[in-house]
Amino acid sequence: MQLWFTIAQTITAKVNMLKFLSEFSERTKDGHIQWLCQCNCGNSSKYMATRVKHNRVNHCQECSRKIGAEKIKIHGMRNTATYSSWISMKDRCLNKKSKDFQSYGARGINVCKEWINSFEQFYKIWEKNQKKIN
Ligand SMILES: [Zn+2]
Repeated sequence: MQLWFTIAQTITAKVNMLKFLSEFSERTKDGHIQWLCQCNCGNSSKYMATRVKHNRVNHCQECSRKIGAEKIKIHGMRNTATYSSWISMKDRCLNKKSKDFQSYGARGINVCKEWINSFEQFYKIWEKNQKKIN
């Protein structure tokens, strides 16, 4: 099996709910690599590889629509400290290039899958803890 295939599978298994199936020979108009990925609901479709790699896309369109309503509710959170701490938490634990990775991810400190994929999940726990503190 080609190395990129293994790498692609590892990436998607770790940070994404989309399962990598294969790579398209055809690229997008802008020259981006396209992957065929399967959502955990079973739907498979074409995705831009970089978007999957960088966790920009987690679900098929159908699932995205379903969780869309929930997302809109918390959409206003994007510029808040909670949202940035979620981003930096993922960075520390998953991004090998992060300056803090050595103290977190490299030591086996990991983010649970629910949190990686969903700021909403993270926010729910965070909100609960805030209430305890206050
Ligand atoms: Zn789906």
